[in-house]
Amino acid sequence: MITRIRTFLRLALLVGAFVGCTEHTQPDPQPEEPEEPEEPIENSIQPADFLSEEKYTQLIVEIVYIEGYEPTNTSKYHLLSLIDSRLHKKGVQIFAKSILSPGEDDFSLETLKIMEEAYRTNETSEQTLVVWIFVADGHYSGNKDDNKILGLAYGPTSIALFGKTIKDYSGGLNQPTTAVLESTVLMHEFCHLLGLVNNGTPMITNHQDATHGHHCSNQDCLMYYAAETSQFLGHFLWNTPPSLKDQCLQDLKNNGGK
Ligand SMILES: [Zn+2]
Ligand SMILES: [Zn+2]
Repeated sequence: MITRIRTFLRLALLVGAFVGCTEHTQPDPQPEEPEEPEEPIENSIQPADFLSEEKYTQLIVEIVYIEGYEPTNTSKYHLLSLIDSRLHKKGVQIFAKSILSPGEDDFSLETLKIMEEAYRTNETSEQTLVVWIFVADGHYSGNKDDNKILGLAYGPTSIALFGKTIKDYSGGLNQPTTAVLESTVLMHEFCHLLGLVNNGTPMITNHQDATHGHHCSNQDCLMYYAAETSQFLGHFLWNTPPSLKDQCLQDLKNNGGK
């Protein structure tokens, strides 16, 4: 809807400009400057935009999943609880819809971006920030044999979960339930969008496990690197998803969060 209104406005402006030209003759038109392609607003979103309500008071969570991979209610509940306890937002809406499988076993970053381009219907505007969550029915194409990625935060407002990989590593003997593992990965990726760790939200004290990128050095923390990989076994007690620990919590608060 927002896109339609924008398109309409653009058309209205174009028509206006055209009418203007017919009314006033301009003998020496200036050579037109080449138009810069419009940068999507999503690319300029910062972690503080999620945490504070300075720019955005509303949040839309748009989930698109491939048939058979709808996130569990437990996962949605945990995500909404995290949003409620850490983000200053007056309103939060969550939408989930299914799409048909594109028939890929492996999803590259490029494929994820193509899926987002094709199916994302909400864009950030005015007071409303939108987060895009895609659940793939396959694995990440960049997986290594001994380390499978369960989820990815690949843009300022974009998250992918690899539903098939999550199912492979949950629900069995000595494995967490699918709901617990999926909740963990979903919250972990969302916290990357919140700028953890040292990923757009500055650290108050150094707790970055730099050998594993933007992750927390606290092995019990939700932002410990193993929470999003197949190496999680043995790292966590898996009856419930791990929570954020003090140093991560302080960083969020310091960057505009609760
Ligand atoms: Zn991570
Ligand atoms: Zn932490």
